[in-house]
Amino acid sequence: MTLHNARILVVGAGLMGAGIAQVAAQAGHEVFLFDTRASAAEAAKAKLAQTLDGLTAKGKLTADVAAAALARITPVDALVAVDLVIEAIVENLDIKRALFAELEALLPREAVIATNTSSISVTALARGMQAPERLVGMHFFNPVPLMKLVEVVSGLGTAPEVAQAVFDLAGRWGKTAVHTRSTPGFIVNRIARPYYAEALMLLQDRAATPELIDACLRSAGFRMGPCELMDLIGHDTNFAVTNSVFAANFFDRRFTPSLVQQELVDAGFLGRKSGRGFYRYP
Ligand code: NAD
Repeated sequence: MTLHNARILVVGAGLMGAGIAQVAAQAGHEVFLFDTRASAAEAAKAKLAQTLDGLTAKGKLTADVAAAALARITPVDALVAVDLVIEAIVENLDIKRALFAELEALLPREAVIATNTSSISVTALARGMQAPERLVGMHFFNPVPLMKLVEVVSGLGTAPEVAQAVFDLAGRWGKTAVHTRSTPGFIVNRIARPYYAEALMLLQDRAATPELIDACLRSAGFRMGPCELMDLIGHDTNFAVTNSVFAANFFDRRFTPSLVQQELVDAGFLGRKSGRGFYRYP
């Protein structure tokens, strides 16, 4: 099986979906972008036009290449039948399952559905699908155009040829793909959760400010500190992932969610995307 010439539908035009659409279009695919939020897909395309202009101004892309990539992205106001769907909607099992049911009613039998979930079991997401073998995790990292890693996550029912086709595709897009089995948090988030948790406990103990924690971790060699990274991820998404990994580990206290996260979400201080998280963004 190959997805090299796949027509792609990206569902969810938020932080991740917009980045995935950009990478797929730059790799030459015809890409449709859908979001339930009115005009979110158009807005993502308009923002992408600015990003591509910026890359052109810096000499990283020619104007022709940038224009061609942009022209390959079509915002749509309904789901469309394609060869590959990449789902990047809210981190919620029931909402993702409902989407897959809608997609299965529409897609040809051989079409692949890839989920960008950060933490929800691919095995559980596939339950109830007519063809669970076509669901695979394709876990990108934020910001998608810059981050090389893609975790290709197989659930219990995922067909090996489907996982391999997605793995090969990620490689063609210049990414570094790795295969893993669907376990809570996969590889990176399993390691990252206790890392964020310790930063949140330091804050709760008033032992350090976000600025101090980030400065320490940067000077220890990390590219970003945990607080600025959580602001980049978005606290709504990050909190949902924390809760999901906590539950999936049978409430192992190492993965305990924090009241600090809960408060940020309650306040709507979601990080960069809302203009305020631990830090403020103009
Ligand atoms: P986001 O909030 O920026 O975007 C999600 C988008 O999905 C929103 O525009 C929302 O309107 C849309 N949406 C919600 N329900 C929908 C539905 N039923 N159909 C169509 N669109 C719908 O979130 P995000 O950060 O882009 O995260 C999306 C997914 O990617 C989540 O599963 C998340 O766990 C995963 N992920 C996030 C990151 C990160 O750093 N933010 C990294 C890797 C993976």
